[in-house]
Amino acid sequence: MATYKAPLKDMRFVLREVIDFKEVTALPPFGEVTPDLVDAILEEAAKLCENVLFPLNRSGDEEGCHYENGVVRTPKGFKEAYTQFIDGGWTNITTDPKFGGQGLPATLGFVVQEMITSANLSFGMYPGLSHGAYEALRAHGKPELQQRYLPKLGDGTWSGTMCLTEPHCGTDLGMLRTRAEPQADGSYAITGTKIFISAGEHDLTENIIHLCLARLPDAPGGTKGISLFIVPKFLPTEDGKPGAANGVRCGAIEHKMGIKASATCVMNFDGAKGWMVGEPNKGLNAMFVMMNAARLGVGMQGLGIAETAYQSAAAYAKDRLQGRSLTGPKNANGPADPIIVHPDVRRMLLIQKSFAEGARALAYWVGSLIDKAHHSDNAEAREAADDLLQLLTPIVKAYFTDMGSESANLAVQTYGGHGFIREHGVEQLVRDARITQLYEGANGIQALDLVGRKLMMKGGKPAQRLLGEINGFIAANKADPKMAEFVEPLEKAIGRVQESVMYLMQNAMKNPDEAGAAATDLLRLMALTAMAYMWGRIAKAAHAGLQAGTDNDFYETKLATGRFFAKRVLPQTTALAHQIKAGSETLMALKAEAF
Ligand SMILES: Cc1cc2nc3c(=O)[nH]c(=O)nc-3n(C[C@H](O)[C@H](O)[C@H](O)COP(=O)(O)OP(=O)(O)OC[C@H]3O[C@@H](n4cnc5c(N)ncnc54)[C@H](O)[C@@H]3O)c2cc1C
Repeated sequence: MATYKAPLKDMRFVLREVIDFKEVTALPPFGEVTPDLVDAILEEAAKLCENVLFPLNRSGDEEGCHYENGVVRTPKGFKEAYTQFIDGGWTNITTDPKFGGQGLPATLGFVVQEMITSANLSFGMYPGLSHGAYEALRAHGKPELQQRYLPKLGDGTWSGTMCLTEPHCGTDLGMLRTRAEPQADGSYAITGTKIFISAGEHDLTENIIHLCLARLPDAPGGTKGISLFIVPKFLPTEDGKPGAANGVRCGAIEHKMGIKASATCVMNFDGAKGWMVGEPNKGLNAMFVMMNAARLGVGMQGLGIAETAYQSAAAYAKDRLQGRSLTGPKNANGPADPIIVHPDVRRMLLIQKSFAEGARALAYWVGSLIDKAHHSDNAEAREAADDLLQLLTPIVKAYFTDMGSESANLAVQTYGGHGFIREHGVEQLVRDARITQLYEGANGIQALDLVGRKLMMKGGKPAQRLLGEINGFIAANKADPKMAEFVEPLEKAIGRVQESVMYLMQNAMKNPDEAGAAATDLLRLMALTAMAYMWGRIAKAAHAGLQAGTDNDFYETKLATGRFFAKRVLPQTTALAHQIKAGSETLMALKAEAF
């Protein structure tokens, strides 16, 4: 069976020794976030995820969601688990105290989110979407809408959705057709069909709050004519209870490859009452708050799945006996050696392990940037953190989810044929991981966002900040011979990023296809470089730990895993830089008829 134990020791190591979580807890609103409190939260989250959510992962996949006459039932056990989840306050840990939230750091929210998705990706979708809706409303909603909806979305008694996609309009939101007619009472009547809406209908909460993109009657065409509306399933009464049914109904649920316990719904809006969030025709700006939160959330899904895949594969590789070690038997009294003796099996495990551990450091660092961007008392520090966050969001979304899928596939490969059959549970990880590369903007679109917007924004300042941050680390550690094996390859990788960006700046103006052709490779090149930076920081922390002389095995393992990354993963950056400089010609040479 698939295995999951929350990697608490590793999580604490990253928080305490790698990213310096103290900088976060020193921010004004987090004075009460003591190490003891953090420990208690991690322990409790681990118990819930291991004992309640993880056991429902397989049964939820087997049973799926049920649709009957507009009503959706989640699989057995989900409702009870959700009740336990909200009773424990888990939906509210990072939300605003002004609306009843606990106001804990986003960094800590990321740690908990990782555990939830490792344990049960489908379950995590329900509170995950609510979190995005909450953020959009908090940033752009009028005070009366915030008062009415935020406390309930925060405490999880109501849940949220994001309604963008329509049958003819996926990536290209400029084509959306859903209409919003102004009403005499200041509300709008929303009419149209949305597809693929996660958590659009279910039985976990007493109300469902849709954040829906639609067009006003006089709106300009394209993305400049889209507005955002809040549309509840039940219209709230004056005293905040779910009242009369609104004109929005689930028409069907999708039958799909994975995340079967997450309801993916066709939602029909038929003159449903809604209220505008943000400015007319500026709905995409408001929705971007939700989309950015959701993109990072989806990135965390990639990490979560990768961790479960790795743990399952590592346990199996220590147990499964096949063949003999090339250097002589390691289990001489048994019929064969465990497959973990074989270099190729180790290759697979170490790709997974070096990804999960490096990505965890990168993810929690990104979490700390959210906290600094919101709460630093210094405007320059807030701006610097936000710049890095903007730049890293598409990188985290696309690279983490590509690697989540790769890790799940490597887990199946480690299990051999036993991974392909359902009994062992790792094939579910492959099916569940696959969607993460597609939704919230397919990964190719993340790459275009990086190349077309994020690298160019503010005259390239965010990219310069990232390069500055990494170059600062290199300069500070270059003279330390123990760090050379991490710093030198990092320096070369940074050089390749600079060369590639330069190539793009020289060529993309003349031919825009150059940017499109380079985008996915450049995103991967930058992701690997960011990971190498994290492995540098992990190595530095490991050396400090070794010097202190406690837990040497733990720190030596970190260094060995980092060496694998530096020597056997990071060299991909050389090939990527070559691919980028090969330009768009080979991609665009064939006529469409030749395919
Ligand atoms: C299980 C599931 C849950 C979902 N949940 C939600 C939800 O809650 N809310 C919601 O609104 N939507 C949701 N979606 C929809 C999802 O976000 C879209 O499927 C996704 O954005 C891609 O749109 P599409 O499927 O129409 O693909 P298309 O836009 O048709 O894209 C197809 C391919 O072409 C590429 N492509 C498209 N345009 C370009 C371009 N300009 N340049 C380069 N490449 C391009 C894409 O990268 C992709 O590989 C969900 C989908 C699924 C399957």
